[in-house]
Amino acid sequence: MRYLSTRDSGERVSLEEAFLRGIAPDGGLYVPEALPAQDPGEFVGLTRPQRVGSKLLHPFFEGSSLEAALPEICEEALDFPLPLSPLNAGAAVLELFHGPTAAFKDVGARFLASCLSRLHTRADRPLTVIVATSGDTGGAVAAAFHGKPGVEVVVLYPAGMVSPRQEEQLTSWGGNVRAFRVGGDFDACQRLAKAALADPALREHRTLTSANSINLGRLLPQTIYYAAAALEYWLSRRKLPGFIVPTGNTGNALACLWAMEMGMPIREIVLATNANPTVTEFLRSGRWEPSPTVSTLATAMDVGNPSNMERVFHLFGGHAGARERLRAFRVDDEEIRRQIRLGPERWKRIWDPHTATAAAAHEQLGGEDWILVATAHPAKFEGVVEPLIGQTVPVPPALAAILERPASVEDIPPALDALRAALLV
Ligand SMILES: *Cc1c(COP(=O)(O)O)cnc(C)c1O
Repeated sequence: MRYLSTRDSGERVSLEEAFLRGIAPDGGLYVPEALPAQDPGEFVGLTRPQRVGSKLLHPFFEGSSLEAALPEICEEALDFPLPLSPLNAGAAVLELFHGPTAAFKDVGARFLASCLSRLHTRADRPLTVIVATSGDTGGAVAAAFHGKPGVEVVVLYPAGMVSPRQEEQLTSWGGNVRAFRVGGDFDACQRLAKAALADPALREHRTLTSANSINLGRLLPQTIYYAAAALEYWLSRRKLPGFIVPTGNTGNALACLWAMEMGMPIREIVLATNANPTVTEFLRSGRWEPSPTVSTLATAMDVGNPSNMERVFHLFGGHAGARERLRAFRVDDEEIRRQIRLGPERWKRIWDPHTATAAAAHEQLGGEDWILVATAHPAKFEGVVEPLIGQTVPVPPALAAILERPASVEDIPPALDALRAALLV
């Protein structure tokens, strides 16, 4: 399989190049040349997501240096449960929050870490992964790469703009993970990461790469849990499920669209966004007009310019095609609060603010055979959730283990020479 940029400059690259580069030189995002058709009947009997993953992703890895290692990579990346748990007779919840940082991003980050640590074979210098984060991504990437030999992680996050629990997930690693608290906002962190990735002085001593959420190596593995959950639902209930996906940058929803396009038993996909209006306005008006980011309770979905929509447009052959195929619901903070409050009594569930958007869309949709995608554990957002439900949310063991580790962090200004000096000592 070869990969091309969404802004197709004619160039085709290998899987290895797409993973290591992250973003294409023309500024586009890497997509597979074709989505291989899969027959769901051939997955019968593969009950573990790891096995589903090896089969589903094999065509993407065929001919690459990682082909033989794919089953092992799937075992390493999916080393926590991804249960499909019943909500009622006509709905279920896909719980993606049992990993080390209690959100779905653990899956993609762990998979990419397993791939990159195998691709980097130079013993003379480290592979340095630079990640700018507004909170969640950095923690998942740090957890995924921690302890991987030959790899070093540089996390850049904005001082005073992440929650206390998020900060602990960014700073409690040590070893091959270095956390930098940057005196600036998230945009300043992103600019600093970009400058570092392009810096000749750093490049002389290190192989540099990024691990942000547009990397194909994070996206491909996300198709696995959709395939596994859809197969399980279809085989046990003999019906095609629709997925309701809490959406920010549209990566997770895109993975679900890819799984459906490959032939997995999925009826339809509905996007649930927070108050950020870009996607719902586009579907209403047909005009793609990214807008400034609005802050909401579902912080990891606070995106005004969802970058993976570029891949969605590519998949459906343009704006009109995407508009025909997608449905989305916009959920404001008041409605998020209402869903969280209702959760324990109506569903015996504690929703986190992101999953609450899916619960709201589900209520509006009505009907049967919906799978609500639970993207984070409520204990990550206890400050929002606990006052609304009047009870404390138990912290899951994997998250508790991280919160107990001592923190180490370095403060730097948002300047390349400061970061360079800290790295090249
Ligand atoms: C990142 C994130 C999202 C949004 O996912 P996208 O792939 O950016 O659409 C939703 N919920 C949680 C908890 C997240 O961390």
